[in-house]
Amino acid sequence: MSGRPQILFPLFSALTSLDGVGPKTAQLLPNLGVEKPRDLLFNLPEGGIDRRKRDSVQGLPDGTTVTVEIEILSHHAPSGKGRPYRIVTQDSQTTLTLIWFHARAAYLENLLPLGARRVVSGKLELFEGHAQMAHPDYVVVPDQVADIPDYEPVYPLTAGLTRKAAIKAVGSALDKAPDLPEWIDAEFLRRKEWPAWRDALQAAHHPQHTDDLARNAPARARLAYDEFFANQLTLSLARARVRRAQGRVTRGDGSLQRKVVDRLGYALTGAQLRSAQEIAADLASDRKMYRLLQGDVGSGKTLVAFLSLLVAVEAGGQGVLMAPTEILARQHLESLQPLAQDAGVRLDILTGRDGGATRASKLKDVADGQIDVLVGTHAVFQADVTFHDLRLAVIDEQHRFGVQQRLDLGAKGQATDVLVMTATPIPRSLALTNFGDMDLSVLDEKPPGRTPVETALVSADKFDQVIARLRQAVIDGRQAYWVCPLVDDSETRDLVSAEDRFKRLRAALGDEVVGLVHGQMPTEQKDAAMEAFTSGKTRVLVATTVIEVGVNVPSASIMIIEHAEIFGLAQLHQLRGRVGRGAEKSTCLLLYHPPLSQSGTRRLTLLRDTEDGFRIAEEDLAMRGAGDLLGTAQSGLPRFRIADAESQTALLVTARDDARALLTRDPDLKSDRGEAARTLLWLLEQDRALRLLGVG
Ligand code: ADP
Ligand code: MG
Repeated sequence: MSGRPQILFPLFSALTSLDGVGPKTAQLLPNLGVEKPRDLLFNLPEGGIDRRKRDSVQGLPDGTTVTVEIEILSHHAPSGKGRPYRIVTQDSQTTLTLIWFHARAAYLENLLPLGARRVVSGKLELFEGHAQMAHPDYVVVPDQVADIPDYEPVYPLTAGLTRKAAIKAVGSALDKAPDLPEWIDAEFLRRKEWPAWRDALQAAHHPQHTDDLARNAPARARLAYDEFFANQLTLSLARARVRRAQGRVTRGDGSLQRKVVDRLGYALTGAQLRSAQEIAADLASDRKMYRLLQGDVGSGKTLVAFLSLLVAVEAGGQGVLMAPTEILARQHLESLQPLAQDAGVRLDILTGRDGGATRASKLKDVADGQIDVLVGTHAVFQADVTFHDLRLAVIDEQHRFGVQQRLDLGAKGQATDVLVMTATPIPRSLALTNFGDMDLSVLDEKPPGRTPVETALVSADKFDQVIARLRQAVIDGRQAYWVCPLVDDSETRDLVSAEDRFKRLRAALGDEVVGLVHGQMPTEQKDAAMEAFTSGKTRVLVATTVIEVGVNVPSASIMIIEHAEIFGLAQLHQLRGRVGRGAEKSTCLLLYHPPLSQSGTRRLTLLRDTEDGFRIAEEDLAMRGAGDLLGTAQSGLPRFRIADAESQTALLVTARDDARALLTRDPDLKSDRGEAARTLLWLLEQDRALRLLGVG
């Protein structure tokens, strides 16, 4: 089978191919994320209305949706311009006035003839004690009461799209839904008492009760599982392919590692030791390594990376360490160079800045194997960079790279083992849905001797006091970062820019002690500014978020963040992680511009109250969603329509185990169940999985 299975064609045709969906509706539906009939199926009702028939509207509260049988007593044409047409009726106990604006009399006389009985359904309004119903949703003759559903699904709507049109469109899409082969394990399906796919859709779109709208209702749970299963099949396929790829056996003798560890002056944390061992074991195996090293800011990932790179060198090969920015690449070089020298390892840097003869000579040394470990930006992976014997590629701060780049890289290095590092603590649900293709090492322990960072929320009104305290701190010999959200104020007038703040702080504290660094500066200037701050020449560094990731200046002990309210939690946590790295007590001031919104207050107080990166990440995920947590570059994030990874993590874990088990038995999805699973992949457009199977 290659290409989308024919059985799915009707679900991927134009919306106008559906009965009752005209060009107008077809133009509105995309506002709801509905592009094809398939999307209508997965666009489940968000609520339901009870329309069971009652005897009377008597005693019901205003706003109740009600269905009653009435007898038509009298018609009253509008008494003036802009007045409604009124029809007085009575149910078994009381009168009910039906109201229409802008309706033709002939139409209403025909719909509700004098003296006849009808069943109406709509929203009850009480007007000066009188029961009214404006524009009933349903008017039917009594023996057609079955046309009114007992419980009617409520769909998300968009301007111009009526309730009826939405229901009709979904109904037509349901009519087109084929019976599909079952991709869920039969025994599991039976145990869960879940319906088959098509039955599940029918049930989910025809709820009978509020219980049917719950996430754990059988129909909805099944459809959620389908989404998880497809997602996990994709990741498991990627993982299986990596694992099948021939790796190289890279076994060190520990000699270089020992030299470095002996001279550190401190002991590795248990987590560092364990992670280093996990990585060494992967390097020593003949499978290709594809591992994520996850650790909160300051947990010491760089050292683990370096020790791993040394294994490659011990084995006679080379390693590469790629950082997302020039500043970070330089900083890695500077912090690792002394260790490398002690061990007699040649470490060098390659960035976009190297040109001409320097670049040519570095490239030659890399190709000859003269350079053991190459540090750099993405320049290290340019086409003309060839290694003598590359064994390990470490990618730092990978949340700056998109999912796709990660996959490209995995594909590129062939037998090269890959270690990616991230400082974003990744909640379990997110790790499962996004990194299920990788093995995971976690640095869940920080090096000892860190003093907690004291965090305070300060209103920007207190600016002068903050400056006064900062001046004193500088006199006391402390160093501070001052972070602003923007480089200059060309775009957003209301925010303080780094350039402006730089000028103001210079005026207040003296020209020599204040430096500036931002992403739009030429690289030499950036380096110079970082260098001046690292060496202690400048005492205050005004910066944009270029310093967010990984910058390490242990002597800096004050972090001031302006407009803290506009930053995300994870980002603030990263920024704060720049201080508290030395023995000195550190302070973080979150300057906000009042009034603070409710969510702003919640975020900033959470940050004030905890330094636990995992807790912060969980909260951030709950408040902002996965895309924001992992950074905008993470474009390949799965978006579930029905499933919810945070609240249905157990189901997600089952889906992962199930996907892996299926692929172990049937790696190419050729069995009956495998073929059914392919249909699911097509149905849910898992293009990546289909490419891995060689059919997409
Ligand atoms: P991360 O990249 O995980 O945020 P770093 O690798 O920058 O953290 O390490 C932060 C600081 O902690 C560095 O100055 C590093 O030298 C130091 N460090 C790393 N491991 C240890 C350890 N086991 N004990 C003490 N200090 C450590
Ligand atoms: Mg780091």
